[in-house]
Order: sequence, then C-alpha cells, then structure tokens
Amino acid sequence: MSGTIVIIGGGLAGLTAATRAAELGLAPIVLEQGGDPQYHCNSRFAGGLLHVGFKDMTGPTDEIEAAVSALIDGNEATANGTVLARESGRALAWLRAEGAKFIKGGSLEFMRWVLAPPRPRTAGLDWKGRGPDVLLRKLTANLAERGTTVRLATRVRELIVEDGRVAGVIAECNGATERIEAASVVISDGGFQANMELMRRFVSPQPERLLQRGAATGHGDGLMMAEAAGARLVGMDRFYGHLLGREAFEIEKLWPYPIIDPIAAASIVVNQAGRRFLDEGLGGVFMANEVAKLDDPLSATVVFDEAVWTGLAADNRYPPCMNPVYEKAGGTVFQANDLGALAQLVDVPPDGLAKTVADYNAAIGTKSALNLSPARCVEKFKPHPIATPPFRAIPVCAGITYTMGGIAIDEGSRAQHREGGSIPGLFAAGSSSGGMEGGPGAAYLGGLAKAVITGLRAAETAAGN
Ligand SMILES: Cc1cc2nc3c(=O)[nH]c(=O)nc-3n(C[C@H](O)[C@H](O)[C@H](O)COP(=O)(O)OP(=O)(O)OC[C@H]3O[C@@H](n4cnc5c(N)ncnc54)[C@H](O)[C@@H]3O)c2cc1C
Repeated sequence: MSGTIVIIGGGLAGLTAATRAAELGLAPIVLEQGGDPQYHCNSRFAGGLLHVGFKDMTGPTDEIEAAVSALIDGNEATANGTVLARESGRALAWLRAEGAKFIKGGSLEFMRWVLAPPRPRTAGLDWKGRGPDVLLRKLTANLAERGTTVRLATRVRELIVEDGRVAGVIAECNGATERIEAASVVISDGGFQANMELMRRFVSPQPERLLQRGAATGHGDGLMMAEAAGARLVGMDRFYGHLLGREAFEIEKLWPYPIIDPIAAASIVVNQAGRRFLDEGLGGVFMANEVAKLDDPLSATVVFDEAVWTGLAADNRYPPCMNPVYEKAGGTVFQANDLGALAQLVDVPPDGLAKTVADYNAAIGTKSALNLSPARCVEKFKPHPIATPPFRAIPVCAGITYTMGGIAIDEGSRAQHREGGSIPGLFAAGSSSGGMEGGPGAAYLGGLAKAVITGLRAAETAAGN
C-alpha cells in the first residue's frame, strides 16, 4: 500500500496522473465508473485543441503567463492560473513523448496543437477515432505496458480518512462495495456539471434548463467526498461552456457544435423584455454563464443582421462556421425585414427590442459603446451595427461543458483544507480542481491543458518530486 496511488476517473487528468505515477515508480490504480472500454468522458468528446490561455503551449513562458494573467485578472477564484503557463511547454513535451500526435489546426494561435486526427468541421458530436479518443486509448495502452489496467464499472463513493489523512477509497463495482487502501488518492472525476443539486447550489437557479454540452459524467462525487474531508472549495459559480441554439435540446446535431458565440459577441443578446442584460464583448463563455444565471435560462435570444450573417458567421476559421452549418443541421434562424416583425417571431416586445437596437446602434455610431447599460467592451470583439435587413434572431441556451470551480489545490495539486494547509494524501486534478479558471470574467484557460498539467503535478508530488 505504500506507493499505491488511487486515481478516481479515467479522463485525461486521471490517465495522465496514472501514467506519470507509474513512470515514477508508484503503483497506480485507476477506478473508472464507465463500463465500456471506450467509456464516455469529456476528454474523449473534446475538440482536441491544446492551448493555455489561447497561446501556443511551446511559446515563451513569459508571453503565456502574460496572456493568462490578462484573462484571470487576479482574484481568488483564479489565483493559481499561472501554474498552467509555467508548466505548459513541459506538459506538451510529455504528451508527445507518450505518443500523442498533433497537427496545426488553423491560422489562429490556439489552434497550433490539435490532437490528430482532428474532428471535421461539422455539426454535432463526432468523437470516435478522433484525436482525443486516440490519445486516451494510447495512454491506456501505455499504462497496460507498465502493468496497470483501468478498472471499469467502478464508481468511487467515499474517501477513507484516518487521523486526518486520506488512506484510500470505498468503491462500488457490480453492486458490491470494496475498500481500497492507498498512500494517496487523486480526485479526477471531471467536475459536477451533471449533478443538479450541486448545480443549483452554485451555478444556476434552473440547472435542468442548461444543455449538457459534454459527456455528462461529472456528478461531483469527488467534490462531495473532498468537502466531507474538509477541503476548501473555490470559484464554484463559473463553468466552461458556450451559447448553443435552444433547439439543441431537441436536435442532436446542434451540440456541441456549432456554437453561437461569435455571432452573439458581434451583436446583442436580449432577454424576454427585449433588453440587453450582459456584456457581449466578454465572449461566449462569459455569456453562457450569464444566461445560466437568469431566472429562466431559456429566455435569451441573439439578434443580428444580414451583414453579420453573411460576413462573420460565414468565416470558416471558427470550426464549424454557423452559416450555412446551423440551418443545414436543422436549426432555425428567424428572419424578417423589420425589427417589429422579428420581435413577434421570437416572442419579445417589439417596442423593447426596437429601443435596445436603436440605443446599441447609436452607441456604436458615437464610438461610446462602453457607455451602454450594461456596458459593452469593444477590445476583444468588435460590435457590429444591426442595420442591414433582413434582421435575424436565434433563441439560445447555455451549454455547459464542465464546471470551472472545485477543490482548491496548490502548485503540487495537493487538496487544500478549508482551515489552511493541505489534506495529507489527497490530490485533485482536471475539472475536479478549482482556483485556476472562472472569476468575474469566466476566464477559460484550456481544459485539456489543465487536465494534463494538474495530473502530472499530482503524480509528481505524490512521488515526492
Ligand atoms: C465537446 C467538447 C469539446 C471540448 N474541446 C476542448 C478543446 O478543444 N480544448 C480543451 O482544452 N478542452 C476542451 N474540452 C474540455 C476538456 O475536454 C476537459 O476540460 C477535460 O477533458 C477534462 O478532463 P478530466 O479528466 O478532468 O475529466 P473527464 O474527461 O470528464 O474525465 C472524468 C472521468 O471520471 C469518471 N468518473 C466520474 N465520477 C466518478 C466516480 N465517482 N468514480 C469513478 N469514476 C468517475 C468519468 O466517468 C470520466 O471518465 C472540450 C470538452 C467537450 C465536452
């Protein structure tokens, strides 16, 4: 049992921690709730873009750190984000040494390292045989070569805590309960997005009205175990996700792609009263979070014009571009030659929408968009006037991929106690860990990179490195 390290969850964070632990001479045991060898998890469904703060992970560390610092904007929820910048080059090199294959996925910097083969730029979910799936299978094979198999259909339910130290787990497998002792435990079970009770406690008044934009395998088991063991939780209110067409609840092809973010960030998002209620200039992850916080998260609509639809929405640098993919996949883009008629089509008051659009267009005209209420940033995403008919609208929903908050960790991925210090024997990695992403601007730094880096650090700290 000395040297035994239990890893909860076989996503990228868990497999990374296990592989690195085996390399360092520990004896990893990976417990995965999924029963199929190609069990669903967010890592397997991912788009496969490896970046830290939208920067090339092999670039100069100070540049990556500056980009991360600008995104996280120094608050408690994200104070540890710069760890990802400092470890990014090493993490990418480690993945390549383990056999990960990459291609350059596009001209934008965050597309430099895309897991191969990439998913095509099509609508809907497409993961089988794509880069992230191939990587998980490769890491599993590497682990097997080192004598470790992933134990499937095994759901961890409890931590064993003895004299304040985590000493193993209680797991369920095929209806039986098993006690597994270990010198350390890594919680890497992927977040709490699929746990409606936790979601209501921390994220949204109506979590059932958010679309699960991922594998929906993160039930917050690890979070609850850690909380019971005294762990400090941090940044719990934010999640990584995107705006999706509301019809994604009925039409499979409308999630996880295409996302509505670029159109929304170029135009306006209105509520049931036809009024803006968020800063579109802060981008899609922020907007999805604000929509989730509405009393009714299914009451937001994106309004834009023909120039945006045939210009930016047809720009194929963003995979996959909305125009024409969205309608081909079965989505409805409402359109009318005047705003009053459009308002009626999407059930918002015509007067309210007309005033909102008039104020917005006037603010852009005078270059004082920041003076709108709510404010509208112009630095990252240029606001486009809503002036060229036909005017268009898409009712949207918040698609949640993973929760950004979680178990507070230090640079070595050690779980932090709410009364100070670390909890001996306990680590957290990937989407189970908190303190790097989120905060007021809902900063997103890159979920795959976070999984690899925190997974590596957990194994290394447990091994005494
Ligand atoms: C559609 C989509 C696109 C994405 N695109 C990108 C991208 O291009 N770039 C990027 O950086 N990020 C992307 N992400 C995010 C990224 O996939 C995640 O941040 C990352 O994979 C999280 O890894 P993880 O190991 O923490 O969690 P997961 O991969 O979700 O793994 C957690 C595992 O734990 C298991 N588990 C849960 N509870 C228990 C339990 N009690 N006992 C045992 N096992 C348990 C689950 O079954 C699961 O297998 C995307 C995600 C999705 C869904």
